[in-house]
Amino acid sequence: MDALIERTAAGLRSRGYEVACCATKAEACARVMVEAEGAASVGWGGSESVKEIGARDALVASGKEIRDHQTVMDLFLQSANTLTADGRIVNIDGRGNRVAASIYGPKRVVYVVGRNKIVDGGLDDAIARVKRCACPPNCRRLGKKTPCAQTGVCADCSSPDRICKVTAVFDRMPTGTPTLVILVDEDLGY
Ligand code: SF4
Repeated sequence: MDALIERTAAGLRSRGYEVACCATKAEACARVMVEAEGAASVGWGGSESVKEIGARDALVASGKEIRDHQTVMDLFLQSANTLTADGRIVNIDGRGNRVAASIYGPKRVVYVVGRNKIVDGGLDDAIARVKRCACPPNCRRLGKKTPCAQTGVCADCSSPDRICKVTAVFDRMPTGTPTLVILVDEDLGY
């Protein structure tokens, strides 16, 4: 396992999270399926990473009902926009519903995070990574009319379509929301 992933895992554990390190997408998908076994309702936070490991299709094939962007459910699956190597989670949202569900509501939260989303730096580096690597492709994917969708560069815009309006920094696992972070030693999502 990559040394940066091992360090991030230790950082997350020190902040109260359960952590699973997976070498491959297939291994991560299998872990998600174990997590979902007893869940009657599964939420999906629009995550490309969860799709890329095949978990969304596998859950649908197993008969699970997938709920998009709700806050009350047994299991909420999502990715993080960025992790710092010392174990902070940074998520940036337009509506705030994904961030809200990862803090309060679900009985259990599971993140699936590829190695490309870890920054070996501080919160400023983490937020900069989101604006540089995640927002432009997400705006293009969602058909948003923002400067970064056109140019690939953040202009700190005032567009009504702006997708980065809420920035949540998780210093510790939220009280009452058991959370597992699955770190994958492959690139996933943006
Ligand atoms: S502020 Fe606007 S331009 Fe910058 S990343 Fe967010 S949506 Fe894109």
